Amino acid sequence: MHVKIIEGCIACGVCESISPEVFTVLDTSVADNAQVPGREDECREAADACPVNVIKIEE
Ligand code: SF4
Repeated sequence: MHVKIIEGCIACGVCESISPEVFTVLDTSVADNAQVPGREDECREAADACPVNVIKIEE
């Protein structure tokens, strides 16, 4: 799985609250793909929860 943040993040912090190991929110969210293995469900949950739908997951 690869997690990517596309343009349009509003830095709401929801993804970081779901998976603080994968997502770090500064001006925009950044995904650390090295932390994804074993946290795939959290990543999918974050993608579903993102209010502007900018978390893209490639399985
Ligand atoms: S949930 Fe979406 S909009 Fe909110 S910080 Fe994460 S990527 Fe950005």
